[in-house]
Amino acid sequence: MAPRKRPNPPFFFAMVPTIYRRYSRITRTSTVLRLLHVLALIRHNMVSDWLADAIAIYNDESHNRREEYVAQVHFPARILEDILEWAFKALPDEILVGLDVSELRNLPEIEVEFQGEKQRKNLFAGQGYRINEAVMVNRGDSFSVHHLPEEWTDDVFGTDRGPRAGRFTHWLHTHPNCPAIPSEADASAAQSTDGVDLILGIEFSPEGPLPWFDGIEGERRVIGEKKSWFTRKDKRKVLGVAPTGHRIHSLELIAFHKAGLGVNVVFVNDDGIAY
Ligand SMILES: [Zn+2]
Repeated sequence: MAPRKRPNPPFFFAMVPTIYRRYSRITRTSTVLRLLHVLALIRHNMVSDWLADAIAIYNDESHNRREEYVAQVHFPARILEDILEWAFKALPDEILVGLDVSELRNLPEIEVEFQGEKQRKNLFAGQGYRINEAVMVNRGDSFSVHHLPEEWTDDVFGTDRGPRAGRFTHWLHTHPNCPAIPSEADASAAQSTDGVDLILGIEFSPEGPLPWFDGIEGERRVIGEKKSWFTRKDKRKVLGVAPTGHRIHSLELIAFHKAGLGVNVVFVNDDGIAY
């Protein structure tokens, strides 16, 4: 299925009442912000349509479930799209991506919107600051992906990584055709993370050597999950198509602190505004 084209402006205005209804339960200010953002997206077309639609649904769930989390991390959609491309090019390997934050804080009005009662401050490094950089630093299986070969880290980080000597604030790794649930290796790798660990599960076809593996228990957060969920393999819906031609059936993303606490992810644009 080809990705849908972004609607033309006349069609967009026909959609305004729907969009307004959807967000009006939050606040008038954020509704206006979101409408402005939709307009900005039409002009700049920052991420693929299918991805923008999917992460808007994910954000809705992040908002609805905000009381289950003690903290939040704001994740730029543009970086998610980059990571997806790297992930497909590295198949059948998992990839490890280092994430750094900028000096820009999360927008306070967005933080308030997604904040629960159990909010904890100073839980992890980079808390409250926007992620602005992603570097793919390794690929491998579910164990080796966490262990960086020394010569590679020297090469990747060089002098421009400065005194951090290759230490990133947050780390994300992928689970190709596997749910985003941490393994034991993931939990132990997270013990040396200053920020949060993120896992991106990608369900795709053609599967190659990696059929969808779904036999594990755990908390899952599916990106763009809709009510009509087909379990039959040949009837799986297609969220979007990767640059490699793979059909993407579902995406899952979780973030967690090394103490085992779940961290809520909010997808934002480059201006820090939530989708
Ligand atoms: Zn893993």
